[in-house]
Amino acid sequence: MTPLEADIRRIIAVDGPMSVAAFMALCLGHPLHGYYTTRDPFGRGGDFTTAPEVSQMFGELIGLWAAALWQAMGTPARLALVELGPGRGTLMADALRAARAVPAFRPALRVHLVETSPALQRFQQERLAGLDLPIAWCRDVAELPDRPLIVIANEFFDALPVHQAVKAAGGWHERMIGLGRDGALAFALHPDPIPGFEAIAPGGLAGAPAGSLYEWRSGEVVADLARRVARNGGAALAIDYGHVDSAVGETLQAVRRHAFADPLATPGEVDLTAHVDFAALARTAARAGARVHGPIPQGEFLRRLGIEARAAALKAAATPALAADIDAALARLAGAGRDAMGELFKAVAVADPKLGAVAGFDS
Ligand code: SAH
Repeated sequence: MTPLEADIRRIIAVDGPMSVAAFMALCLGHPLHGYYTTRDPFGRGGDFTTAPEVSQMFGELIGLWAAALWQAMGTPARLALVELGPGRGTLMADALRAARAVPAFRPALRVHLVETSPALQRFQQERLAGLDLPIAWCRDVAELPDRPLIVIANEFFDALPVHQAVKAAGGWHERMIGLGRDGALAFALHPDPIPGFEAIAPGGLAGAPAGSLYEWRSGEVVADLARRVARNGGAALAIDYGHVDSAVGETLQAVRRHAFADPLATPGEVDLTAHVDFAALARTAARAGARVHGPIPQGEFLRRLGIEARAAALKAAATPALAADIDAALARLAGAGRDAMGELFKAVAVADPKLGAVAGFDS
C-alpha cells in the first residue's frame, strides 16, 4: 500500500467516502505524498511527455503569440505574464527567448508562475535562473496582481480535480470513493441525488439513460481569470485535450510510464487526469464577462502561428538526423491521428471583450 493510500483510508474511516474530486486533489497535490509534490513526471524516462518537451517550437510560437497580444493590448507598460502549472519551465524559457524578437516586450514583463508542487517549483527556478527578469511564484490564481495579464496554461486544466455523477432512477448521484468489504478503496454512489444538478449540467443531459456518467470541474479558476482579463485587459490561453461539447462519458484516467493504470491502485504514484470540457469552460468564462475565442484544434492553432515556417528555418541549419527529429516533432505537435496531438488537443482563449481579434484564432 502506498503511504497516501494509508492516509486516504484513514480519512474515509473517519469522515466517510470522499468525492472523486477530493480523491484526485489528494493524489496530485497532497503536501507530502502527492504525485506532483514528489516528482518530475515528464519526458521519456517519466510518465508522460507534454508539447513543450516535444520541441522548442511550441514554446517559441506561444512566446511570439504573447508578444503580439501585448501589442494588440496597446503595449501596457506593466504586464503580468502568467503560466499555470509550468512543469519543468521549458515552455516559459522557450517563450521568453523567442519574444526577444519584440524588444520592448521584455522590459514590460513580470513573470508569475502558479505552481503547487515544491519539487517542480525548484525545477522551474533552475531552468529560468539565467533570465534577467523578475519571476514570482504563487500557488493560486487568486494571489496574482491586479494588472493587465497574459496567461498560458498547457495541460493544466486536465490536472484539476473532476467530480463524477452517475444517473440513477431518482436523479444524478455523486460518485464517491469509499472502502470495499476487503478494506480496499472502491467506487460507490452517494445515497442522495445531487441537489440542483441542472445548474451544473447543460440541459442536454435530461435524456441521458440510467447508468450514464457525467464529469465536471469547479469553474473557479476560469471565472477568476475571465474577470481579470475583462477588468484589466489581456487574455488567457488554455491548451489541453478534451471535448468541444459537454457530454456524458468517463475520461478520468491514470497514467504511469506512458501506459494506462488503475486510478485506485497506487494513489500518489500515478498521474490522474480527465478531459477538459471546453464547452463548460467557455460557458463559465462568458458568464464571468470574457469573450471566448475557439476552441480550435492545436494543429490548426500552431499552423496559423507559423509552425511550418519555424520548422523549415530550424531544418535549414540542422544535420540530417536533427532535421528528421524536427519533422517528427512537427508531426507530433500538429499532425492528425491518435499518436499526434494536433487534433486531440484544442486551444481556447478567454479574452478581454474590448480586445479585437486574437492571433491564431481570428486570423
Ligand atoms: N505545463 C507543463 C506541465 C503540465 S503538468 C507542460 O506542458 O509541460 C501539470 C502542471 O500543473 C504541473 O506543473 C503541476 O505541478 C501543476 N499543477 C497541478 N495542479 C495544480 C494546481 N491546482 N495549482 C497549480 N499548479 C498545479
